[in-house]
Amino acid sequence: MKKIIADRTSKIDASGIRKVFALAATLKDPINFSIGQPDFDVPEPLKEEAIKAIKAGQNKYSQTAGDALLKEKISELVKKEIGWDRPAVLVTSGVSGGLLLAFMSLINPGDEVIIPDPYFVMYKHLVNMLGGRCVFVDSYPAFQLPLEQISKAITSRTKIIVVNSPCNPTGVVYSEEQIKALAKIAAEKDLLVITDEIYDKFCYDGSCPSIANYYDKTLLMRGFSKTYAMTGWRLGYVTVHESLQDIIEQMTKIQQYTFVCAPSPFQKAAMAALDYDVSDFVVVYRKKRDLIFEGLSDKFELVKPGGAFYAFVKAPAGGSATEFVEKAIANNVLVIPGNVFSEKDTHFRISYATSDEKIQQGIEILRGLA
Ligand code: PMP
Repeated sequence: MKKIIADRTSKIDASGIRKVFALAATLKDPINFSIGQPDFDVPEPLKEEAIKAIKAGQNKYSQTAGDALLKEKISELVKKEIGWDRPAVLVTSGVSGGLLLAFMSLINPGDEVIIPDPYFVMYKHLVNMLGGRCVFVDSYPAFQLPLEQISKAITSRTKIIVVNSPCNPTGVVYSEEQIKALAKIAAEKDLLVITDEIYDKFCYDGSCPSIANYYDKTLLMRGFSKTYAMTGWRLGYVTVHESLQDIIEQMTKIQQYTFVCAPSPFQKAAMAALDYDVSDFVVVYRKKRDLIFEGLSDKFELVKPGGAFYAFVKAPAGGSATEFVEKAIANNVLVIPGNVFSEKDTHFRISYATSDEKIQQGIEILRGLA
């Protein structure tokens, strides 16, 4: 088999997560803290928009870069929020699609990409698969932007800095001050920034600043999956300042020969989604955040998450996070070991996107294992 499988597949390791899911399959009614999606369903009016689009026959390919009206609506939003006058927009198959197209368009073998550790798994594997080199900068234990280490990590091969705020897996939101400082570092070395803001609406203590507001050499990625609980609809977008338009053109070219376009009836529904107010969900999720933080912080070391729906908790002393996760799973609580998102194996990720009742039960069990 080895002979037929391409070498690049060996650069991807999905075994960490698979192990958890294999263990999960053996459990009857687990407390599932492993899920990376909201526990509410797509709001009814948005479902209606999708159904309407399907019934109206809007089921064919859209333009490669996305439905013109949706792109226009995204442009207006970006103009208003970011202040770019004529942003270039590409509608993608989720932020995942945007990340793949961006890295494919930008990375040559040997190019270095700076990634704060812990990180969303996909960055590492995509960069590796394309022959790039991930340069991880440790952000433990506070998970703020490690600005000094980022500066030190820059070499002549550095091309991109990736930021993700609110962050998966830590839930940390970078402050305006940190974001501005990063913009300054990137500007000094003329580097590109990719900002993954898929959790931008899940922001609990004030606003989540975007580096796009301070730095034009930024690829801004936002999604519909988490905000409107439509992870299966596969929608996201990438937008850039007009001076980077060529990047969007190259990404569109690759989309043409890979994804072709994002799912077209859902692009129609996405227009309505952009006008849909999710603040009630955010209130509910803020309460869940409080529940998990107050329930665990006297027994475990954890930074109070400011956004997303994750908490990144230090495993008790005396063993690795993987060992602790195995113990938690044996006690019916599914969590993900930190080494899936990190070069370290000291923490575990909790997703609190589940019912308050399950959160309470999970807290009790984890406290018993502390
Ligand atoms: N970025 C981050 C940080 C994520 O957590 C996820 C989903 N887990 C994605 C991107 C990809 O999301 P999607 O492709 O559904 O838009």
